[in-house]
Amino acid sequence: MKSYNSFEVAQKQVLEAAQHLRLDKPTIELLTHPQKEFTFTMPIRMDDKKVRIFHGYRIQYNYARGPAKGGIRFHMDETIDTIRALASWMTWKTAVVDLPLGGAKGGVVCDPKNMSEIELENIARGYIRSISELIGITKDIPAPDVYTNPQTMAWMMDEYETITRQHMPGVLTDKPQQIGGTEGRRDATARGGVYCVREACKYYNLKPSTFAIQGFGNAGQRAALLHNEILGEGKLVAVCDSKGGIYNPNGINPKELVVYKLQTGKVVGFPGCEPITSEEVLKLKVDVLYPAALENAINEENAESINASIICELANGPTTPEADLILFEKGIKVIPDILASAGGVIVSYFEMVQDSYSYFWEESEVHHKLDFKISKAYKTVYEAIKEKKLHPRLAAMVVGVARVAEASKLRGWV
Ligand code: GLU
Repeated sequence: MKSYNSFEVAQKQVLEAAQHLRLDKPTIELLTHPQKEFTFTMPIRMDDKKVRIFHGYRIQYNYARGPAKGGIRFHMDETIDTIRALASWMTWKTAVVDLPLGGAKGGVVCDPKNMSEIELENIARGYIRSISELIGITKDIPAPDVYTNPQTMAWMMDEYETITRQHMPGVLTDKPQQIGGTEGRRDATARGGVYCVREACKYYNLKPSTFAIQGFGNAGQRAALLHNEILGEGKLVAVCDSKGGIYNPNGINPKELVVYKLQTGKVVGFPGCEPITSEEVLKLKVDVLYPAALENAINEENAESINASIICELANGPTTPEADLILFEKGIKVIPDILASAGGVIVSYFEMVQDSYSYFWEESEVHHKLDFKISKAYKTVYEAIKEKKLHPRLAAMVVGVARVAEASKLRGWV
């Protein structure tokens, strides 16, 4: 498969939106580059008592609309450019759903699947020691991303509070509920995506009767469980993760599959299914396809063979710009990542708000407010698609980029 530089992809997307908006040169220069980048090394004591050096990143892409916000990834393939791309996408994501936040992302190059709990804790704490003066509720608020979770956030928050000698739970989001987390954060990314599918079915008069999921981490698993609950129908026919895929045209029971995945660490071998590759999952004829894995999964090499009616992008950056044009030509309704996967950061924002006055909402209130915010953003993007005749990603980017450009102008930056 061709290799992609995700940051070049992200820059291309911003440039396209900026040109459509006829932004001036300094604004384009500002919005196609990160405002602040931090790279660092962390000496970490491992279980064998030896010290290993890990490389970490935190990038605050743009903070014109508010403090920078975005997750931290633990993954072997991270580079400065993947983090730049992810931080750029967070900027347009928070803007398109109209949160008073900027965009950021962080990462550590490591292999979390082959590390012990203690080693992961040491990395989480080491990461915060490296960036403690850069983060804070008025500066930059991290959250989980690929291979990090509420436990990681708990260690990180504890390290931050130990360094600063104060209680400041809002410095990180998606924490366990016992220490300042909110109701409804764990399934928020998938829930937001499924709400978008509901809106897409309404606006385009489509049905969500069959669906497939590529990637079975937190977002993929939650989408499997929520699709039926929210939409009232839907047969899950195929799922894959990094170890392989499964297919059953008669339907896979999402609850049993999630239990199987949690017990075995994979979906392959789930009873009653045929094996299928990740590429085949993407090409199935289904009503809804949820790409929920990593970047560039849908590209010019496979876009022509995609047969879904709706693509709900729960992953960040799953589709390349070339593939976007092919999917648009084919009439496939793409719900772009910066909208479809925004549920997580929306509820992260709700968590920050609740932490700030130590008063917590009921789960139904979180769901209701998430639904309101993401459905409103869906409508704004849908109207931009119709009125300006743009492909969905460009329409969403135009909405997000325009808001960030406006804030930058008001501040006198450009
Ligand atoms: N990592 C998630 C994302 O990519 C959540 C970020 C957050 O809540 O800050 O949207």
